[in-house]
Amino acid sequence: MTVKKIATVAVRAGINNDKHHGAVVAPIHLSSTYSLKGFNEKREFDYSRTGNPTRATLAQAIADLEQGSVGVVTSTGMAAAHLVCQLLSVDDVIVIPHDCYGGSYRLYTHLAKRGLFKVIVVDQNDEQALADALAQKPKVVLIETPSNPLLRLVDIEKVAKLSHDVGALVAVDNTFMSPVLQRPLTLGADIVFHSTTKYINGHSDVVGGVLVTKDQALGEELAWWANCIGITGAAFDSYLTVRGLKTLPLRMKQHQQNADAVAEFLVNHPAVEKVYYPGLSDHPSHALAKKQQANFGSMMSFEVKGGEAAVKALFANLDLFTLAQSLGGVESLISHPSTMTHAGMELEAQIAAGIKQSLVRVSVGIEDIDDIIADLGQGLAASQHN
Ligand SMILES: *Cc1c(COP(=O)(O)O)cnc(C)c1O
Repeated sequence: MTVKKIATVAVRAGINNDKHHGAVVAPIHLSSTYSLKGFNEKREFDYSRTGNPTRATLAQAIADLEQGSVGVVTSTGMAAAHLVCQLLSVDDVIVIPHDCYGGSYRLYTHLAKRGLFKVIVVDQNDEQALADALAQKPKVVLIETPSNPLLRLVDIEKVAKLSHDVGALVAVDNTFMSPVLQRPLTLGADIVFHSTTKYINGHSDVVGGVLVTKDQALGEELAWWANCIGITGAAFDSYLTVRGLKTLPLRMKQHQQNADAVAEFLVNHPAVEKVYYPGLSDHPSHALAKKQQANFGSMMSFEVKGGEAAVKALFANLDLFTLAQSLGGVESLISHPSTMTHAGMELEAQIAAGIKQSLVRVSVGIEDIDDIIADLGQGLAASQHN
């Protein structure tokens, strides 16, 4: 069979796989346990923590979208990030990006504090710092690109090659892009994982995760650990996520069309100091984004003139955008990294990381673009008269 295009793979997830009744949509299997055919005669599934048909449908679909071999569906995105740690022994080193997702930073640094493994935090665009970290012969190098909230990029192909040269495995958190916009396994990564809570499910009604490996044996090892520690995803969540996944390519098109228009609007708005979006030609990684991504995505951030007071006034004068963390749903969300997603960082650390109090992050949804722009316009106008 020829390799199908991405929209086809997404839409066809689980279609026609019901052997008993011919259900067109993959049924949801809530049963926690499965009978044996007879004494010592196992079927494909025996117990739902270990394996579940609905979860398997989701795992296979995302593995296909990422062009990998084994997919492991986990209960949350953090569970997928945690699963990577099962590859590490006490003396092993994991290299993580300085600007990775706050929950991932907390997870890896706190487990390292307990002595489970060693962690090196590095800016992967700082060639010397990266070389110094790789000289420690890490077992795993974690990449997250684009980063949150400043949309910095890392060259996956380049870092993967340098990491492989020292024998490290490369894991990429691909949550911000989804497999529609970036496929790290095709750029040299060994593992890719997602918070499916975001674009993959896309409807802000499931918290979940997935991890996909290029190598079959590595995937089986991680699936073994997911069952062993009990972090596999629930059947109902998997069902909803398969349903969301079917429109992922279609949603991403509309997210992109709207994001392009929002970026252009923000760049030209007098109340906006600076826009952070890889789609802009003056973004430091614009060329890299064009090379390693299929498009620029619908996450962006910007600085409002007038500091925190202006941000407050902006938020108070929005009708459509919802003030909330998270991202990747059909609805437009707006957030203030300094007091929300990055509140765990000291103010000085925030400033050092380039996160100003005037910084606002948006997840551009798929509402009508005229309404999105009108809402931002009304909020930005009010931000200058506070
Ligand atoms: C949300 C998120 C996670 C964590 O996923 P949960 O589903 O919330 O556990 C990890 N990485 C990135 C980039 C995220 O945005």
